[in-house]
Amino acid sequence: MKCRNCYQSNFIKKGKRNGKQRYHCKNCKCNFQLEYAYKAYQSNVDDLIKCLLKESCGIRSISRIINISAKTVLSRMLKISNQIKIPYFNKQGCKFEVDEMSIKIANGKKQNWLIYGIERETKLLIDFVVGGRTKENIRQLIDKILLLNPKRIYTDKLNIYPSLIPKEIHKRFQYCTNKIERMNLTLRTHIKRLSRKTICFSRKQKYLEAHLRIYFWG
Ligand SMILES: [Zn+2]
Repeated sequence: MKCRNCYQSNFIKKGKRNGKQRYHCKNCKCNFQLEYAYKAYQSNVDDLIKCLLKESCGIRSISRIINISAKTVLSRMLKISNQIKIPYFNKQGCKFEVDEMSIKIANGKKQNWLIYGIERETKLLIDFVVGGRTKENIRQLIDKILLLNPKRIYTDKLNIYPSLIPKEIHKRFQYCTNKIERMNLTLRTHIKRLSRKTICFSRKQKYLEAHLRIYFWG
């Protein structure tokens, strides 16, 4: 038997609740039970939510599969995404592709975009920004890429890019963003809230960002 928090076995009994024995951990001072009636407290639920979020399951379908409430799924999603540490990309002199993808958020009246950049060979994500297709939002991403000393940056013909990227490393001809355009389609297939021509969409931006963090780095 081990503590749920610190995985040590230095605990004592501490009363009963609903007929189940509760324990008190002397190491981390938490109280816990060995088995819970409510399914959301079982130990493999977080991993299951992570898997299902990457396999085109919506929040309500996850809640039906695991048999917990939709609000719990949402709060767990935020908790999991806050625990994720973003891996630091530190290869110098690579080629990058940058693109924007139109997304729908319920309470946003203006059009929202997912702006992101990938490394061309490994298809690793550098960073993403959710918001309008403005110069400030795109600058956040481009500045991160310019720190990596890029060999080339490939973009589409949006007229904001030439003012942000130095001319000698900037390329924007037809078909140069094929890899990232294909990745747009993969995202729309694997993430339920990004699929087009359906009634699935994000209600709030923070849940969309949490979902994307889990998809890319979780
Ligand atoms: Zn403990």
